[in-house]
Amino acid sequence: MKSVFVILNLFFAPSVLAFTLVHPSAPRFSESTVYVDLAASNCSGTGRSLDEIRSLILESNRMYWNSVSMSSIELKFGSITSDDFSNAPDMNAIVGQAGVNRILATCNEDIFAPANMEGVGGQGSIACSGGSCRGALALNAHGSSNLPQLSALEMKALIGHEIGHALGLGHTEVEEALMHYSIGNKSQESLHMDDMLGIAYLYPQDKKVGGLLGACGTIALIGNNSNPPAGGAGGLGVLSFVFILGLLLIRRMPLWLK
Ligand SMILES: [Zn+2]
Repeated sequence: MKSVFVILNLFFAPSVLAFTLVHPSAPRFSESTVYVDLAASNCSGTGRSLDEIRSLILESNRMYWNSVSMSSIELKFGSITSDDFSNAPDMNAIVGQAGVNRILATCNEDIFAPANMEGVGGQGSIACSGGSCRGALALNAHGSSNLPQLSALEMKALIGHEIGHALGLGHTEVEEALMHYSIGNKSQESLHMDDMLGIAYLYPQDKKVGGLLGACGTIALIGNNSNPPAGGAGGLGVLSFVFILGLLLIRRMPLWLK
């Protein structure tokens, strides 16, 4: 039994555990396969064509959230839709048009028009109601956007960060994590363990254990590039994840140890 606690301590040292959720109710897609659609919006303000944005999303999905073996999440590209959300006034206007179990990505000018949004590269959100969730991702295509100056790798990291919000993750204080609240100029090619623990908490590989987490049933908060939300769900996340890992370990323990 002692070995179990040693393992837990190694995994969950306080400095390592920091992931949060966009909302304490832990909104999450009910299916492990989530499709990302791309709206046919004007992306010129990002310095990229619509097709280049599509390629960046595909690469980002492969490099980050689809690479976590302990999570069941699988992002697939859906299609380029005929809608133009370049001038959608806020994230709610975008996420409301996403399909169930889908994330709608778009370039946008109006959300990022205010002066205090000039340095924000993008936003991601998830909204759930009655057990059905929809996600949204907006990239700053306003004239003041600094996205044209970002490298392809920095763009992939930005997209991965915002999709992290759309999957239900909030910000973390771990600087090396993709979900750190300061995403500016991040150019890491892979996730940090803190990101992996966060996504595995929301979408565990063991679906029987995942059922313990419950379904989403509220409209969640919108993630952005500001400071982490006060009273984030990190503590809850950590406790629940320890509980889940404990169950997994106990199931694999020899009978004489139980
Ligand atoms: Zn963020």
